[in-house]
Amino acid sequence: MTILITNDDGIYSPGIAALARIASRFGKVTVIAPDVEQSSMGHAVTHSRPLSLKRSPIAFEGIEAWRVNGTPADCVALGSHLYAKTDVVLSGINMGPNLGNSMWHSGTLAAAKQAVLLGIRGIALSTPVGKTEPDFEALAPYVERTLALLFEDNDLGLYNVNFPPQPKDIKWTRQSVRLYDGKIVPGVDPMGRKHYWFTVTPLEPAEEGTDRWAVENDYVSITPLRLDLTDEQMLRKVKLEHPV
Ligand code: MN
Repeated sequence: MTILITNDDGIYSPGIAALARIASRFGKVTVIAPDVEQSSMGHAVTHSRPLSLKRSPIAFEGIEAWRVNGTPADCVALGSHLYAKTDVVLSGINMGPNLGNSMWHSGTLAAAKQAVLLGIRGIALSTPVGKTEPDFEALAPYVERTLALLFEDNDLGLYNVNFPPQPKDIKWTRQSVRLYDGKIVPGVDPMGRKHYWFTVTPLEPAEEGTDRWAVENDYVSITPLRLDLTDEQMLRKVKLEHPV
């Protein structure tokens, strides 16, 4: 199996080093990741300037690694061009969860999405960060189990995986869409000028069976996602009520 690994935290993140190490038990791994952090860039692509890549062996012993002056989606486009035989793209392990509505902003997930758009299987992997950095050694058995599970079949799929700090098992989940936690908080800079932070607020506990619920209850959450965003129910309704 040929595996391409990227992330949105940048190539120097400990999360991508951990993922590369674990994934190399399953096949030949190449790392191609942004040279600086690109979190919350979503599915942005660079079209107004060229992309370039440089070798980056730091933290990737024996694994070919490249850093790119672009977004996570750029890395996957470029990586799958240079490594045309890629079987699967893994993105992460992101330092921070990508649950519920935060999937819309996530650069981690966008990289996996870009893979599927290009006809390659895509898996995004994330874990929350508390006061201390994630313990990737402790998570490793669950990362390995999750990858083994997702590699069992060859379907072209898009998966969003989130690891709690101390997993007790794995659950298949659906995306939680009930609440949105993004909000603007005003502040004042040292010069007395007003500025604004886009931040997240704590949410109520999530509904059972969702990705947020699973991680809140110490389960690894695996959500299969689709690219077709069409609201089938609404489409039927508008066709009926507003024939054109
Ligand atoms: Mn990130």
